[in-house]
Amino acid sequence: MSSPLQLSFVRSATAVSQLPPSPVEVAFVGRSNVGKSSLINALANRKQLAQVSNTPGRTQLINLFVLPSGATVVDLPGYGYAAVPGRVKRGWQQMIEGYLLGREELAQVFVLVDGEIGPTKLDDQMLAWARANRIPHTIVATKIDKVKPSRRDARKHQLAAGCALEVGDVVFASATTGVGIDRLRSLVAARLVLPP
Ligand code: GDP
Repeated sequence: MSSPLQLSFVRSATAVSQLPPSPVEVAFVGRSNVGKSSLINALANRKQLAQVSNTPGRTQLINLFVLPSGATVVDLPGYGYAAVPGRVKRGWQQMIEGYLLGREELAQVFVLVDGEIGPTKLDDQMLAWARANRIPHTIVATKIDKVKPSRRDARKHQLAAGCALEVGDVVFASATTGVGIDRLRSLVAARLVLPP
């Protein structure tokens, strides 16, 4: 088993310009309620590191975490919460895009997709945008425990095909059961190796 990522919260920011320099960084992005906070908590084996909120859309900030090595992890605001007015949505989009295009330290983005229902239309848009802009990314399917074991293989194929990928290219994970957390920790740690 890989050891938990020793993440400490550094600060929140509203724009990439407010983030301190970092030797190397990865980011997590996904639709509101996709299970992003739960996943970050699971990676760190901490209960309340990233806030797990029952009010989707409340976390509208870029949250920055640091490892003892100085490498950083960014939790981007969840996109696409329906109850939010268009003006606010556009603000989020600008913040997320500004970060993904402007953050030089960014080595990899982990795009979270709901393992039970994804990829949704918004996920499709995000993935198309990431591909068009050549943002290095890995897809993580969350909450895979919610899919009945008898349907899981079919669902994995369907989700991967929906993202134009092979099943093996997607990390299927559950913050609840811990499935896939080790693999994800390893992938994150591998991208956060400090440059020589
Ligand atoms: P975020 O908005 O993307 O940060 O999502 P949260 O981490 O706050 O999770 C949204 C909801 O999904 C909460 O009710 C969580 O308890 C639930 N959830 C998150 N991860 C899992 C999981 O792996 N399995 C199941 N069954 N529920 C999950």
